[in-house]
Amino acid sequence: MLNRRSFLKTGLKTSAVIPLAAGLTSLEASGENAAADAVVAEVRSPAPKLIALPPRTAEPDAASEPWQQKVRRVGQSNMTEHDPAVMNIEEWADYWHRVEADLVFISVTGILAFYPSKVQFHRHGKYLNGRDFFGECVAAAKKRGMRVVARMSPDLNWGDALEAHPEWAMRYKDGSAQHSGEDPRLFKTCMFSTYMDDFMPAIMREVNSLYDVDCFYANGWPPLGSLPECHCAICSRLPPPGTPAYWEAFNDRVFELWQKYNAIAKEKKSDSFFFANSGGNVRSGPNLDRIGKIAVWFQADNQGRTCDEPSVWGCSLQGRVCNAVLDGKVAANVTAAYSTGVIGWRNASKNADEARMWLNETSASGMRPYFHFVGSENGFCEDRRWQKVGEEYFQWTARHDAHFKTRRSVANIGVVIGQSTQLLYPGPAAVRSRAYMHETTEGMYDALLQGRFAFDYVHEDRLDAERLKKYRALILPNVAMLSDGQCGQIRNYVNAGGSVMASFETSLYDENLNRREEFGLADVLGISKDGDAVGTNGNAYYARIENPGAKRPHPILQGYTDTNWIPGAQNRIPLKPVSEPLLTVVPGFVRYPPELAYPPVSRTSEPAIVLREAGGSRTAYFSGDIERSYWLTGHGDLLRLMNNTIRWLTNDERVIHVDGDGLIEMFCWETAPGYAVHLLNYTNPNAHQGWMRSVYPLGAQTIRMQLPAGVRVKSVELLRAEQSVNFETEGGVLHFTVPRIGDYEVAAIKVL
Ligand SMILES: [Zn+2]
Repeated sequence: MLNRRSFLKTGLKTSAVIPLAAGLTSLEASGENAAADAVVAEVRSPAPKLIALPPRTAEPDAASEPWQQKVRRVGQSNMTEHDPAVMNIEEWADYWHRVEADLVFISVTGILAFYPSKVQFHRHGKYLNGRDFFGECVAAAKKRGMRVVARMSPDLNWGDALEAHPEWAMRYKDGSAQHSGEDPRLFKTCMFSTYMDDFMPAIMREVNSLYDVDCFYANGWPPLGSLPECHCAICSRLPPPGTPAYWEAFNDRVFELWQKYNAIAKEKKSDSFFFANSGGNVRSGPNLDRIGKIAVWFQADNQGRTCDEPSVWGCSLQGRVCNAVLDGKVAANVTAAYSTGVIGWRNASKNADEARMWLNETSASGMRPYFHFVGSENGFCEDRRWQKVGEEYFQWTARHDAHFKTRRSVANIGVVIGQSTQLLYPGPAAVRSRAYMHETTEGMYDALLQGRFAFDYVHEDRLDAERLKKYRALILPNVAMLSDGQCGQIRNYVNAGGSVMASFETSLYDENLNRREEFGLADVLGISKDGDAVGTNGNAYYARIENPGAKRPHPILQGYTDTNWIPGAQNRIPLKPVSEPLLTVVPGFVRYPPELAYPPVSRTSEPAIVLREAGGSRTAYFSGDIERSYWLTGHGDLLRLMNNTIRWLTNDERVIHVDGDGLIEMFCWETAPGYAVHLLNYTNPNAHQGWMRSVYPLGAQTIRMQLPAGVRVKSVELLRAEQSVNFETEGGVLHFTVPRIGDYEVAAIKVL
């Protein structure tokens, strides 16, 4: 991708100045191309203010670390009923040992026993024939020094169990049992029933009595990105499904069972533990703050792109969610080596470039890579192509483990995860859609990547001053539901000098989804509501630039020339007037017929954005759903407005500046040897649809960061290229260039 700035730079760096300069004239003359390229180039800051990284953290005591913290790679061949007849256990164990997996998942299950279980209704697989398949696998793994997770599935069981225990089933409103959509012989078990209190503990205790396993895991429960809807006798007494009160009851039950299973795991060994299936990124089913408090292992069942969530960054987004709540405990993201998606082939390899990118994102975002294939037909799989992908990736990370072990992110922007809003808020009246908040999340994520900002997620239940103090700014992308207490924490943050950007219905609902008369953050943001949400019928509203053509436009209006207005958003909350608004609303009007496509009212005093400054704190509120409107349209004016605003909000302070072309995602971690800067190359026609089919390398990226006082750099090594690069330090600022990025590069900085 060529833009004017990089073009000029390239020209100045090479000896071929004259022909390049001549080329520039023709490029500039080609107005269309220049304009198309300009948006992304201009939203990035050419010269941000570098602020020093915080003092380095003290060396943790490795001896006191629990065993799971040392796990770096995880392997799973997900076992099928047929595997006892066809799987070559030695070949299976040799593979995972050779690729340096520290831990393997082996199926106990609950749907089908892989050992001669005596627990009633724990049905033996039809190819088991009394064999201890699980025990043989455990022995083969242990012989090679690998840890073992006993994998259970508490979500489904068979007709004989249903007949004996009708109370175990999830029920529809008409009282009939809910069954698996794919195999109706299996019924869905209700998590509020004694199935979870009696049946699952019996299996765990049986496994503990027979085998040496390191911990227990439950697959298929709790639900990932939604809440269950069951009308059994127990659930009928709970609050209605989908309500905040139901979510609380659901959370209480999840964590009651989690603790119970954890205690059973520890009955044999105190360093054993239980963990449940997790994921769903910002829309996790169980409360993420509570998972963070109880889990020592976050199993991100986030195996690949789906048609609902087709963006390439789906895995690193999950990693940021994990970092928000785990305080350094283990997160592993499962990468499906098989074909995920709306048409699934669970026993065929997916594109190697796509699988690798998902693994790259796992490592870059601080999670443990975990590779997963289903079924072992024909010894060790009919399709063996995935094995080379996993082997090369795992062995590569094993050579550089020290740099992948993260201590903390050095980001200076916090994006608030409004988990309750994600799960429970239905969207504004004009757009009732489950996708509404997903589109909001994606728009904000994309804008932050385009601007190359260093950011973390921050959970809505973790807004205490201690956690927020590292952030120069907080971003609230339509976090509609906020309690009075949470609003108070944000108010304190702003009073202490923090900056905030918020949009649309942020703080218009309390934690119980009760609508407020006025924004909960009205005083903080300097806004007052003047009516209910207005949607679009035809043309969406515009934002009129007040005082266009000003010699020194406000920083958030930089880059808008030759226009008096820019797009607004699809939906907005009307606001009461403020003094000296920068952008005012031109209400939407007819789109068709064009004869009527003009504004009946061309100027109003209704603000489209409200800015405030007090001391070091700055706040910006957009009355429209700008992130989502950007995601749905890709309009560069909206991207520019968001990025200009974030730069103004943070006073353009950065902890790291990565300059160069292309769409990349960047992470910067403090590590034991020093720092690790991860660059993921998403510049690919399949960034938002389908899978990566090849890699489109990027050219030079220059990196600048200001080291803490007294810290000196020993070396900078590129882990993917496996070579060192030259670096300079001047006035404490480290400066180096990554000459090329294929799919991924990690600059590992060792310090003295
Ligand atoms: Zn139920």
